[in-house]
Amino acid sequence: MQPYQGIATFGRCPQTRDLTAADVAIVGVPYDGATSYRSGARFGPRAIREQSLLLWGYNNALNVAPFEKLRIIDFGDVNVVPVDVLATQQAIESEVGKVVSAGVKVIALGGDHSISLPLLRAQAAKFGPLAVVHFDAHPDTWNTEFGDHRFSHGTPFRRAIEEGLVDTAAYVQVGIRGPTAGPQDYADAIRLGARMITLDEALERGLTAVVEEIVSVVGSRPTYVTLDIDAVDPAFAPGTGTPEVGGFSSHQMLQLVRGLAGLNVVGADVVEVAPAYDQSQITAILAANLVFELLSIMALGK
Ligand code: MN
Ligand code: MN
Repeated sequence: MQPYQGIATFGRCPQTRDLTAADVAIVGVPYDGATSYRSGARFGPRAIREQSLLLWGYNNALNVAPFEKLRIIDFGDVNVVPVDVLATQQAIESEVGKVVSAGVKVIALGGDHSISLPLLRAQAAKFGPLAVVHFDAHPDTWNTEFGDHRFSHGTPFRRAIEEGLVDTAAYVQVGIRGPTAGPQDYADAIRLGARMITLDEALERGLTAVVEEIVSVVGSRPTYVTLDIDAVDPAFAPGTGTPEVGGFSSHQMLQLVRGLAGLNVVGADVVEVAPAYDQSQITAILAANLVFELLSIMALGK
């Protein structure tokens, strides 16, 4: 079948909720009710699935064919509730929790970054506190947003740390940049336990050194990778809700994710893809390729 034919599941993997013969489930989470600026990431999963059809299958950089090595299913989408962040979180935790507890790895397609909190709850229920590799322009460790709202896409990692879901000895943020409300935004993230590698530090030291540091901090711990597409420069990934200029190129982002090969990646998400602001689908194409790299890492670990 040609890439432009048929109905788009991720990578043409079978759409099923039968977990018995699966290693990895791709799960869409089309929720953007917790965004603070431009909404639209609810259409992210569908756009990523569509662009995933051009992934030919063999990863020449990592020498692995994830669609052959892994039994991958497309689980479909979580039943989100657009007007209710808490009900959505419950649905994510419950639906993904069943997949995780069955021993199937989950790569979630967002959706805004608030979805990572219930995803981490589902993962931590099985693995305990997780090492987290967090690619983002923003620390996402605010305490509250819009007054006293505790659950937005600016707060998930503060909540996850408070809930004991994150092993703060192994929490690395990469790509942080841009203006913030004040110096306390970075200081809070660091005080909460994040090893923050800003975009400037990453480019000054070089990506090889960054990858080496991530690998040495994380070690063999069960590791969750959360990838906000706004870690990438909006010149390469304009289709997102909270763009910050001066980010990684597409190639640099691929290099960073590939550098995680060898880590014990138990789950991942790629979030904040908002197709309405995209140009020529470049953001969704990149997101599909980043999922492919994550699958490749999981395949190498099998
Ligand atoms: Mn962000
Ligand atoms: Mn984020």
